[in-house]
Amino acid sequence: MRYNIAEPSIFMPTSLIEALAWKERNPHATVYGGGTYLLWNEAGRLLHLPGSILSLQNIKELNRLGRTETRLDVGATVSIQRILRAGPKVLSPLLAEALESICPPSVATMATLGGNLSVRDRCMASFPLMHVLDARCELRSFRGTRWVPVTGLRSADGKLQMGTTELITRIQIPMEEWNFYIYRRIGTFPYGITADSLILVIVGKIDRGMLTEFRFAIGNFSSRIYRNRDLETLLIGARLPLGKSKDLKEFLYAVQEDLKNWNFIPSSMQMERILHILQVTLSNPFQYGS
Ligand SMILES: Cc1cc2nc3c(=O)[nH]c(=O)nc-3n(C[C@H](O)[C@H](O)[C@H](O)COP(=O)(O)OP(=O)(O)OC[C@H]3O[C@@H](n4cnc5c(N)ncnc54)[C@H](O)[C@@H]3O)c2cc1C
Repeated sequence: MRYNIAEPSIFMPTSLIEALAWKERNPHATVYGGGTYLLWNEAGRLLHLPGSILSLQNIKELNRLGRTETRLDVGATVSIQRILRAGPKVLSPLLAEALESICPPSVATMATLGGNLSVRDRCMASFPLMHVLDARCELRSFRGTRWVPVTGLRSADGKLQMGTTELITRIQIPMEEWNFYIYRRIGTFPYGITADSLILVIVGKIDRGMLTEFRFAIGNFSSRIYRNRDLETLLIGARLPLGKSKDLKEFLYAVQEDLKNWNFIPSSMQMERILHILQVTLSNPFQYGS
């Protein structure tokens, strides 16, 4: 492969403060996390690099991974593979499953969660799960730091709410106990983006046989994900398992109508899959626990 070195300027700072100061002066420079999304479609003989690149790879502060009793702290450049290597003592089975589904193992050695959440025009594979788990991102610029929940990382019309001089520096993921959960990729291929790629995330809590918390989201790699909190509350307080109850039928009908309104699911077959997974999960959630 030949490299198209039409003089891209690549800055590789070793400290975060240097990186932020440089980004302040070069707001339109492309941030390079693991580079796996940026270089994904570079199949030609020439590698087309953006004119100005800020590489985060040598910044130690961004490469930390920590776990407390209640949350996981992931530095923006920690690779997906490194998070996975932390193992079951650190990760929940749901998180491990979702991280494994982000990209092929060979790519996961470089790919980062920070990069996955920062893609401007698409909600990538981790987005629906981070949304549902109430994860939050630390955004830093030379001018200051702010924490933004993933639920607020995009506007209603899908625009990434990150300034051109801001970086995602850390992601905090609450480690709550969910009594049942599903992370499912639906579509022709296990990885990559095709017209039929969907991601469905379902989590719920049960107390004394009653549904006390329920969240679900669907991603289709567009700039928005599907989530409707009003629908999530419809079944709260219901006795489980729901089996073939009227409540469940009404819930599924409401979801179907809402998804049609959103024009979010590519085909009727995909719609059936989504509704089927929701139905099977909710009719007996006890089989999907940890
Ligand atoms: C074969 C293959 C299959 C793949 N399949 C999938 C898939 O199925 N699902 C999926 O989600 N992804 C997939 N990917 C894409 C990619 O691996 C992941 O999305 C990965 O998590 C991106 O992380 P990265 O660090 O490599 O991002 P990068 O490529 O470095 O960056 C992605 C975007 O985020 C910006 N950015 C990166 N880090 C930061 C930061 N800290 N702050 C601000 N902006 C930042 C970059 O400027 C760029 O716009 C695939 C890639 C390959 C090569």
